[in-house]
Amino acid sequence: MFRRDRPQGATQGYLIRLAQGRIAPGAEAEILQSAAPWPEDAIALGYWEDVPVALALEAEPGEAWLDGRGWLGRLPESHFGLLSTALQVGHWYRNHRFCGRCGSRASALEHEFAMACPSCGHRNYPRISPCIITLVTHGDELLLARSPRFPPGRYSTLAGFIEPGEAAEEAVRREIFEEVGLTVGRVSYFKSQAWPFPHALMLGFFAEAASRRIRIDGEEIVDAAWFTPRRLPQLPPLYSISRALIETHLKAVGGR
Ligand SMILES: [Zn+2]
Repeated sequence: MFRRDRPQGATQGYLIRLAQGRIAPGAEAEILQSAAPWPEDAIALGYWEDVPVALALEAEPGEAWLDGRGWLGRLPESHFGLLSTALQVGHWYRNHRFCGRCGSRASALEHEFAMACPSCGHRNYPRISPCIITLVTHGDELLLARSPRFPPGRYSTLAGFIEPGEAAEEAVRREIFEEVGLTVGRVSYFKSQAWPFPHALMLGFFAEAASRRIRIDGEEIVDAAWFTPRRLPQLPPLYSISRALIETHLKAVGGR
């Protein structure tokens, strides 16, 4: 199990090797290289089974290295926190090497995830982007949509970024209206999931549609339709919160 407590002054332990969003296969927990001294610029992440874990950012991935989705599909859920942390910290670190306020070279602090500017004191923390993801239902039926980025045949729940100054529930109603032209009645919170592509925090909701008539926006989604529990399209992968929303609804209406 991953423990979120940054090892102070540690110089050895497990290592995760990351390059261009791909992680090397390892000996422990599938993505951990065996305990050994860390390279000098390794970033301490926390502990795995009480052994310190650090991240090493490398230039080129090797042939057998898998991307985040590849690993999410292989690893048990107990490893997701470790994997998401490595991917998100790696992405943040690569993109925040300079101060966003004055442009000086920033340096990483040891006791927390922060890049500090020695010239102006500005601090940069890992970016986490809250998104809503929502399953719209009408009785037993589910509203699922296709993004142009999806593999052929796949449909999923609606999702979108929360805008500055917006509450999550407001974002749910706005996204549903923008993408499929529906107004919804009751909106209820389900659960959340860190989604490291590259730094989203998905907040899952159920929303009950007041009517079945939809109007597709054609940009963010290219198709949307109502599905009955007996006739479903190809669904998102099992490890995703969108799939958990769908499965939870199916169970509640007796379709699973
Ligand atoms: Zn600065």
